[in-house]
Amino acid sequence: MIQYSSKIADTTSIFSVMSNLSVEHNAINLGQGFPNFDCDDKLKQLVTKYLNDNKNQYAASAGAIELRKAIADKINLCYNVEVDPISEITITAGATQALFSIINAFVHSGDEVIIIEPAYDSYRPAIELSGGVVVPYALDGPEFRIDWDAIKNLCSHKTKMIIINTPHNPTGKIFSHEDMQSLQGIVSDTNIIVLSDEVYEHLIYDGRHHQSVLRYPRLYEQSICVYSFGKTFHATGWKMGYCVGPEYLMHEVRKHHQWNVFSANSFIQHALAEYLLDPESYMNLSRFYEKKRDYLVDVMGGSRLQPIACEGTYFQLFDYSQVSDLTDIEFAKKMVMDHGVASIPLSPFYSEAKNYKYIRLCFAKNEELLDKAGVLLRNL
Ligand code: PMP
Ligand code: GLN
Repeated sequence: MIQYSSKIADTTSIFSVMSNLSVEHNAINLGQGFPNFDCDDKLKQLVTKYLNDNKNQYAASAGAIELRKAIADKINLCYNVEVDPISEITITAGATQALFSIINAFVHSGDEVIIIEPAYDSYRPAIELSGGVVVPYALDGPEFRIDWDAIKNLCSHKTKMIIINTPHNPTGKIFSHEDMQSLQGIVSDTNIIVLSDEVYEHLIYDGRHHQSVLRYPRLYEQSICVYSFGKTFHATGWKMGYCVGPEYLMHEVRKHHQWNVFSANSFIQHALAEYLLDPESYMNLSRFYEKKRDYLVDVMGGSRLQPIACEGTYFQLFDYSQVSDLTDIEFAKKMVMDHGVASIPLSPFYSEAKNYKYIRLCFAKNEELLDKAGVLLRNL
């Protein structure tokens, strides 16, 4: 054996931990966020079509232009803004690779990056591998509202980036127009880059609207937004995503993207380009998932797990304090082992342990599975 020194903490993502436990205990997996139903047949047929149509060699590094144009049209339709498909959009191997490339592109050794916790688990390792320093701002439940003055106080000349995520995983909260204005006020006249993780842009409920950074031209000038086809089209295993940002920032991102993946899967890119021509494919998602959110809350009626209002994403938090004093990780493990339902505890999304009693359940499931989970969880 040779000697080496590791560059990264020896942790396994909570998503893998809970999914593995779920398989081991033959449980219902409401932990890791993925649908238990298939993507649209029409999309699968398009993928097959382009696979057979010889779209099997490298795509352009920034992505197939057909797909970038279709995304620019979608952005125009959703947010009423023009972005240039040639210079402002890059297709990536899922949102995760976009996040990694963007963070690597801008964060130098010693630079500080503000993250809002509970924060998606891939941000911290990407920042630390770039030599950056994580500056966490912790949200308190059950409101999980941001105090922008506190964020402002965390900013210094060392702050290179602020990472935001709306709709927010795991809390299901969304940013308001006022949140966006506060953020814009904090970063304008600074060199801070905003990395806006918007993978759940189409999963937003009760008539609310997604406050994309793309809607705020001044903010967009110093931002990059990240999206995932996995979330939007029920195909998390394809690992297809994209990022959007002004040309001078995207230029830098593409330099990194070309060396860590060069280009994303080509035949799926062509299939997505054609599929996106019909806006029906994403315009009805909110209604579709809102029903599932309500269905899960209904089947949990009468249980001692109390739902926390979910405004977006396909995750619903529950407060289990009436059931147990265990820590959230212990409780989630007990729930899968003794009660047959896997969930995600919140503490792995925080830098410092919180004594919160929340677990996250994913409702991207068919009614049959949600019914079964409800029966098991009402007995808790
Ligand atoms: N950001 C957030 C907030 C997520 O929940 C996820 C998981 N989909 C990702 C990024 C990564 O997305 P992808 O699977 O496309 O890499
Ligand atoms: N984004 C998914 C979630 O929050 C998981 C992604 C992963 O497993 N890495 O559940």
